[in-house]
Amino acid sequence: MLNRTQHFINGEWIDSTGTETIEVINPANKKTIGKISNGTIQDLNRAVSAARNAFLSFSQTTREERIILLNKIADEFEKRKKDIVDTITLELGSPIAHSETPQYSMALAHYRQAAKELEDFEFVEYKNHTAIYKEPIGVSGLITPWNFPANQASTKIASAIAAGSTVVLKPAQLTPFTAMIIADIFKSAGVPDGVFNLVNGSGRVIGDGISSHSDIDYVSFTGSGNVGKNISENAAKTIKKVSLELGGKSPLIVLEDCDIKKAVDITLSKSLFNSGQVCTAAAKIIVPESIHDEFTKVLEEEISKLPIGNPQNKDTFIGPLVSEKQYNQVQEYIDTGIKEGAHLIIGGKGHPEGLEEGFYARPTIFTNVNKNMTIAKEEIFGPVIPILTYKDIGEAIEIANDTIYGLAGYVVGSDNNLTQKVASSIRAGRITINNASEDYSAPFGGYKQSGVGREWGKYGIEEYLELKAVLTE
Ligand code: NAP
Ligand code: MG
Repeated sequence: MLNRTQHFINGEWIDSTGTETIEVINPANKKTIGKISNGTIQDLNRAVSAARNAFLSFSQTTREERIILLNKIADEFEKRKKDIVDTITLELGSPIAHSETPQYSMALAHYRQAAKELEDFEFVEYKNHTAIYKEPIGVSGLITPWNFPANQASTKIASAIAAGSTVVLKPAQLTPFTAMIIADIFKSAGVPDGVFNLVNGSGRVIGDGISSHSDIDYVSFTGSGNVGKNISENAAKTIKKVSLELGGKSPLIVLEDCDIKKAVDITLSKSLFNSGQVCTAAAKIIVPESIHDEFTKVLEEEISKLPIGNPQNKDTFIGPLVSEKQYNQVQEYIDTGIKEGAHLIIGGKGHPEGLEEGFYARPTIFTNVNKNMTIAKEEIFGPVIPILTYKDIGEAIEIANDTIYGLAGYVVGSDNNLTQKVASSIRAGRITINNASEDYSAPFGGYKQSGVGREWGKYGIEEYLELKAVLTE
């Protein structure tokens, strides 16, 4: 049992001013794995004052000092690899191989990338008779979700540290232990006291407290749209800058000239990774009528081969969903898909056989989906693949863009000119063509209701900076 009921404030683990605790559950077997503090506003206030105080000196550090610090953090992060990987699997239910790559490796990459970006980052530009300085924004409140416990916190913190801003983090109560290891890493890496603070607790109290706090300058949030709206409303009252990384309903367009087996493999990995609990998941598969039958036949064959079960097993590809709430949400969407007349070709409601002890859902494919159905419009956040068809590219693009979201998109095909053309027509922040590898220097964030602002690389660092113009006679 992990009994970690303290908060990390001003470089120390300290007791909460309250006594309430929150139990953390292993989604693979519903057993309690430990408990954390249900933090109070007093705890948050202490963390904010520590961050405010540390800002005075941390904002004055040099680029070189921060490069050294970020690389030291990355070194310490590497030393704690096993702990991080095991903890992500325990609290999220992520298959152990995926907890390592990409869950752990992405988080690590952000610290290294931020250090690299700093080498030639322009903190001052000259225009006419004016110097334009980029200065750290101040105290940043970070609110993160449970689906990438190390990555979501790390991309934000790495950018903030690179910029010279100080932070208060509230991790998701479903997956708090990974973030607590990260706090330990910062301590051993020599992050100055108060630069990083962590307060555990509920979104309702600590999250809300961050977005309304008069001494926090900026809020960076990743999570659901409704909470994002709430944060924006709160932040408006103290004119706080807000960045939001919200959900998506990202299209994957399969082109007629694709290699079908390759298109199927890409579809499965982009839509089922992390049991579909990914904001950039391919969530609407758009296939030409001409190859629909062959594509779905191969997809059905391949999906049934995917190892599903205990996330501790090295070969597992699909583990449980994170919580009962998430499991019930996915069941409801499968139900709605059936009721609205989509054709269920594999999967469906309930648990996969023999996996009743955890929050496991059945990998599910729907065909005959039209763009007005709920499963084609809303974010399911589960292992459910809706397939839609198109007659010509114009129709494919229209279906792809028929959404309130614009986080990501995927294009699979052989003709480079056509894949580029289709990529440029999708209104979303991050498009991946075929099996392109990850790029940590490229911006990550959404058009439309997928959010405001960008993370990763130099774009992430810029969010934690203010612009100052000094006009000289
Ligand atoms: P959520 O409720 O938006 O939670 C995200 C974070 O916000 C958590 O730390 C949460 O705290 C906190 N929070 C909750 N209410 C808050 C409030 N009023 N003010 C400030 N912070 C608050 O997301 P969820 O419940 O975990 O997931 C619900 C849906 O959100 C998912 O089904 C999915 O559609 C979407 N989602 C998107 C992403 C993404 O990467 N964009 C990630 C996860 C989920 P708690 O500790 O109390 O939960
Ligand atoms: Mg929630």
